[in-house]
Amino acid sequence: MAPKAIIIGSGVAGLSAAIRLAIQGIEVSVYEKNEVAGGKLGSLQKQGYQFDTGPSLFTEPYLLQSLFDLAGERMDDYLTYEKCDDLCHYFFESGKKITAHADIDRFAREMEEQLGEPAEHTKQYLQKAGKLFNSVGDIFLNNSLHKTNTWFHRRVIKALKQVKINHVIGNLDSFNAAAFRTPEAVQLFNRYATYNGSSPYNTPGMLSMIPHVEYNEGVYYPHGGMIKIIEALQSLAEKKGVRFYFNTAVDRIIYNSGSVQGVVVNHQNILADMVISNADIYFTYSHLLGRKVQAQKLLKQPRSSSAIVFYWGIKKTYPALGLHNIFFSNNYKAEFQAIFNKHSVYQDPTVYINITSKKEQGHAPAGSENWFVMVNTAAHTGQDWETLQKETKAAVLKKLQRLLGAEIEKYIEFEQVLNPSLIAGQTWAYEGALYGAASNNKFSAFLRPPNFFKKIKGLYCCGGTVHPGGGIPLCLRSAKISAEIIQRDFLTLKHRP
Ligand SMILES: Cc1cc2nc3c(=O)[nH]c(=O)nc-3n(C[C@H](O)[C@H](O)[C@H](O)COP(=O)(O)OP(=O)(O)OC[C@H]3O[C@@H](n4cnc5c(N)ncnc54)[C@H](O)[C@@H]3O)c2cc1C
Repeated sequence: MAPKAIIIGSGVAGLSAAIRLAIQGIEVSVYEKNEVAGGKLGSLQKQGYQFDTGPSLFTEPYLLQSLFDLAGERMDDYLTYEKCDDLCHYFFESGKKITAHADIDRFAREMEEQLGEPAEHTKQYLQKAGKLFNSVGDIFLNNSLHKTNTWFHRRVIKALKQVKINHVIGNLDSFNAAAFRTPEAVQLFNRYATYNGSSPYNTPGMLSMIPHVEYNEGVYYPHGGMIKIIEALQSLAEKKGVRFYFNTAVDRIIYNSGSVQGVVVNHQNILADMVISNADIYFTYSHLLGRKVQAQKLLKQPRSSSAIVFYWGIKKTYPALGLHNIFFSNNYKAEFQAIFNKHSVYQDPTVYINITSKKEQGHAPAGSENWFVMVNTAAHTGQDWETLQKETKAAVLKKLQRLLGAEIEKYIEFEQVLNPSLIAGQTWAYEGALYGAASNNKFSAFLRPPNFFKKIKGLYCCGGTVHPGGGIPLCLRSAKISAEIIQRDFLTLKHRP
């Protein structure tokens, strides 16, 4: 008989783990408390507008491709996508603007012409980011850091040779300040700390490898929007025989004598050989396992940032904007202090706007645009989000008026808002943090919880709150690492009495 696996949650990592286990011949059931799959990656359709409600940036499509290859399916039959010519449109308070082109030479030239940053600086930075990502990143993002076989390998020593003193001593801001001459270039590359919900003034210079993914590998747009990624993964999982139970929360994980036995759902025990939790790791410990002390220990690492998102249906088009746009704050340091020290939102926040109707006019009525307007905030620790939302909206509109020279408010014909408290409620993410723990210290990468439980055989976890971290690409890697550990453990499990 095929071994049975239960997956708790159908976020991008839960779906990906389900597919990988089903391919291994395991009978997989996914329990999801919401009525649809996707977790933080969701979608909203209202008044002729379509919005991706969570992630909007799609990189490293090969991670999905390899999943479809493994399943022996053509990815094109499930999901198509295109490479973007422009990565992002940046607007600075100094009045300077820049388009980050996919073509690095063109981007570097633009950095020189618009910002006064020598083109060579940009090219060298991205070249070094690539080397770091392909050596250190390749090992530490694709393997468990909690298994000895990851460390005792020749390639580790080779990779560590790429690590320079300023990658570990000092922070991303000081790393970037040494690499660039202009404050705008430093701010632009400091921004990548937010890709895992951290502050550039605390996170190590090692995170300078992140831009490699966008500039050297590319930014992509999935046709139909980000939600198509979830639809594709769910269809592939169903094709491989995975069973889904929606509107069905797991109440508890059952374990006995150091081995997992199954889960409790609606007061019923459902037995399985292995359980994989895609739920937030804090809740996995505190609620599903009832291990409050261990859960509390996880909180020694502060949570990542969260967000306020305005979904605006705008009855006008703005040719100066593209798919991805950033309007930087006047004082980046103060912005991160407001988020991580004052646990609030900065008064003049950096504003990110994603407009998928720039790619697909069907996502908005004719002559209109669908704006996903996001501002980074602190995680939810009981703030008055209604008030902060109002203040943030006023600040965003003022900023756009200033930097875009255009009025926006009178053209907003649809509005819905997401805030950290709602994110926490919808996806059971502790404090509504987007990426679990922040990487705000040198050791945070090593302090993320592993993908397995040392003291409970047959219990594993995957997703943005465990190794290697949050964001779609890392969640996909997390599912792969868990599935590989399960595959290795499987022989032992199969022979369990
Ligand atoms: C506004 C926003 C913007 C973002 N932008 C980006 C971006 O541009 N690029 C990027 O890569 N990432 C981005 N992220 C982060 C990204 O969305 C997450 O890192 C990723 O989607 C997390 O996936 P996951 O697999 O960890 O699961 P989650 O998405 O956290 O899903 C977990 C699932 O488990 C379910 N669940 C929890 N507990 C139980 C239980 N007891 N029983 C049953 N089901 C349960 C939940 O309902 C949920 O569906 C963004 C997130 C948000 C919210």
